[in-house]
Amino acid sequence: MLTHCLRLTAYFLMAKGIAILGSTGSIGCNTLRVVESLGEQFHVVALGAGRNVWKLAEQIALYRPQLVSVANEECAQELAGLLRERGIKTPAIRVGEAGLIEVARMAQAEIVVSAIVGAIGLVPTLEALKAGKRVALANKETLVMAGEIVTRAARESGAELLPIDSEHNAIHQCLRGEKRAEVRRLVLTASGGPFRCKSLREMEEATVEDAMQHPTWTMGAKVTIDSATLMNKGLEVIEAHWLFGFDGEAIDVVVHPESVVHSMIELVDNSIIAQMGATDMRHAIQYALTYPERQACALPPLDLTQLSVLRFEAPDRARFPCLELAYRALRTGGTLPACLNAANEMAVEAFLAGRIRLTDISRVIDRVMTKHEVQATRDLDVILEADREARAAAAAEIACLTLSERIAVEKLV
Ligand code: MG
Repeated sequence: MLTHCLRLTAYFLMAKGIAILGSTGSIGCNTLRVVESLGEQFHVVALGAGRNVWKLAEQIALYRPQLVSVANEECAQELAGLLRERGIKTPAIRVGEAGLIEVARMAQAEIVVSAIVGAIGLVPTLEALKAGKRVALANKETLVMAGEIVTRAARESGAELLPIDSEHNAIHQCLRGEKRAEVRRLVLTASGGPFRCKSLREMEEATVEDAMQHPTWTMGAKVTIDSATLMNKGLEVIEAHWLFGFDGEAIDVVVHPESVVHSMIELVDNSIIAQMGATDMRHAIQYALTYPERQACALPPLDLTQLSVLRFEAPDRARFPCLELAYRALRTGGTLPACLNAANEMAVEAFLAGRIRLTDISRVIDRVMTKHEVQATRDLDVILEADREARAAAAAEIACLTLSERIAVEKLV
């Protein structure tokens, strides 16, 4: 018994505390699998979730965090009820954005995995950086909306910001040991999504089900639709700018359907360095947790002899206008990237709800961006206000498109 207690004490003293924002999503669940595979090096101290209280209850039973956060009071009561029923010790339960912030700032957490999808992840992630935590970042919207503020907060507190997004994780690996002045450009790879070989006509007719058929990665709905429109890559160009300090002109996108090369850098002597691996997010997550060390990984290594061909193509900017919209937002800067992100989130939601067509997503974003009055981004309130405004403007554009579609259908009938 005594030995057991001593071992347990040693574990909590030695192990690094991890807090996960977005624990019940795809990245959150994969993070927990990585933590488990790494044995006693890490322990979970806090979990931030939304409405999936069933999954959170399972995670609490397995990982025993001291603090959790859910979307609202109703979810908190449901969670407490579930834990009582199952005889699981209840951790402190918090709600809403304040709850996520508490998770992000928790004293016992050395590492915060930021895996909430969308703009809602911004403030908690920023708080984790201000508190000096290592942030393993999967939430790209944080950097798209407020890259300047977020990277400044990290610099000021000395917090490390490590990307979990597979492309940026790859570039982080490629840049290790290279001199900044000797790197000419970054090359982000894109799978091309389910419409890579489809005509514009087919894309106009695409259903939600068609768009959810991602050829190589299994991800949540928002990222999957963003991959189908290539907006995901557009957001990643902006993300790469803030993470690595390269201008838009020095960040290229190449379509690579096999998704084996996760991204590349090109050096001034024309050498290209690529990072390759299996299409499993757990590689990037483990890298961010154990950096600067590398450790054995539970996943099987990539079998090169099984790769018959690796293709690289230029993206079709006419069929995928979202990519250009993102470059435009990055070039202009200010509040325009936040506006792009907000309009995109609204348009994707409307597409998933069957209200607009896939090809309407870029139309909505373009209209909202064109009408947006760009402001300098000196403070977070300006960004959050731009986000709110762009959402309202996008809602109006979506309503307009839905109405004209209905009129067109009625005329046909
Ligand atoms: Mg990615």
